[in-house]
Amino acid sequence: MRIPIIAGNWKMNKNKEETKKFLEEFKTLVGDSEIEVVICPSFTVLDSASQIIDKTSIKLGAQNMSWEEDGAFTGEVSPDMLLDLGVEFVILGHSERRQIFNETDDRINKKVVKALEKGLRPILCVGETLEEREGERAFDVVRDQLIKGFKSINEKNASKVIIAYEPVWAIGTGKTASPEDANEMAAYIRSMVAEIFSEEISEELIIQYGGSVKPGNVEDIMNQTDIDGALVGGASLEPKDFIEIVNF
Ligand code: PEP
Repeated sequence: MRIPIIAGNWKMNKNKEETKKFLEEFKTLVGDSEIEVVICPSFTVLDSASQIIDKTSIKLGAQNMSWEEDGAFTGEVSPDMLLDLGVEFVILGHSERRQIFNETDDRINKKVVKALEKGLRPILCVGETLEEREGERAFDVVRDQLIKGFKSINEKNASKVIIAYEPVWAIGTGKTASPEDANEMAAYIRSMVAEIFSEEISEELIIQYGGSVKPGNVEDIMNQTDIDGALVGGASLEPKDFIEIVNF
């Protein structure tokens, strides 16, 4: 049975005080959640967030990391540094990183490989742009991102990867893919993983949907057969919105 994972991607929001305020309130609301709940704040507040959520059911994620171990890589954060702070998940290949910071599939794959080697669970983001969807290339684009993202990953590790299907045109825009369209892509992703690895691995794989998930639409999305969670941006910034999503 796949246990749903709902992750909040705070992006470049919240300082130390705001993080404390959110988490102190959210941890009382979340209690012993039956699903996995992950908060992914900025690097600068990972340490304080880690202390506040200690001994709760909330897990900690980062929004990016380096594929390097250590050394002369100014501005980068290594997987060991994340582990040191109690981080268990890491978002990789978010469309904002692909588009604004020119992250390539090759670099994203290096990060996925490194995260798995270190015991971190990667949340690998894939998804098409509006132009690609309108040009009927959505499935080809996602297929290509998946094949490149999973390069050099062995079967043993494959099901530890969480795939977040995030159509780029739905991120932060208020537009959501219809639950049926999102599920169609999730089912396609699962079939691709069965092709690359095995049926068994594909059945274990957690596939999230991301793109303007809100309290009002989460239930329909989570009721889809191949969607096992959500990656939530804007609506994860308010405890009351995020708890409604978690309690879909
Ligand atoms: C995201 O940041 O991954 C995301 C899906 O953002 P939003 O929920 O704001 O669309």
